Amino acid sequence: MRLPLIAANWKMNKTTAETREFITEFLPLVDGVKDVEIVIAPAFTSLPVAAKFLKGSNVKLAAQDVFWETEGAYTGEVSPLMLKDVECTYVIIGHSERRQYFNETDEIVNRKIRAAQEADLGIIFCIGETLQEREAGETLQVLKRQITEGLKGLSAQGLVIAYEPVWAIGTGKTATPEQAEEAHSFIRKELKTLYGNEAEQIRILYGGSVKPDNIASLMAQPNVDGALVGGASLKPDSFSKIVRFKEP
Ligand code: PEP
Repeated sequence: MRLPLIAANWKMNKTTAETREFITEFLPLVDGVKDVEIVIAPAFTSLPVAAKFLKGSNVKLAAQDVFWETEGAYTGEVSPLMLKDVECTYVIIGHSERRQYFNETDEIVNRKIRAAQEADLGIIFCIGETLQEREAGETLQVLKRQITEGLKGLSAQGLVIAYEPVWAIGTGKTATPEQAEEAHSFIRKELKTLYGNEAEQIRILYGGSVKPDNIASLMAQPNVDGALVGGASLKPDSFSKIVRFKEP
């Protein structure tokens, strides 16, 4: 049995005051939810305030990125140790916006995952094809490359995969449940090649325009184990409805 994981990726949104406001409103809305692991990934600047207000709750904290060194002359970067220091449980690695705007390669992603594992952080490892790749019939090939290169030489420690078709991120175009399941079952098969039976325990999240009204049909697929949510995670009401997807 894989415990569903629903994670909010706030991207470059919310000041510290807005973070505090969100959490104050959100926690009562998800009070008592135990059958879903809930995670929020604010910007780096809001991590300490989020840690303070989430303390003792059923919501865990994630960062949106990490560097692979522990300390040193790397202006602007944040290390795995620093994320542990502000009580992060997870870190998102390899998001398509990092790949697209900051030229993150599979090799960079691999280094970051290794460093996060060494620091005992959970990892939300993002993969997914662009529209051009999908239209060229290259989806499975791209996923295979991202998995093989991103996880090269690494164990499955702390690993969660987020399948995020780039054409579905922030566009309002969600993959159909069938398209998501096709990709997720392929990802599971690739993980089995790498990790054998352990692959059955690895959660595979779907991301890309997840909303309160499409989450249930996505979660009904056998290999969809949760969601990484951007836009719809910015409001306590809509994010709590996604978390409570099992309720009518
Ligand atoms: C994301 O960026 O991880 C994401 C899924 O965004 P959205 O839900 O806004 O498509």
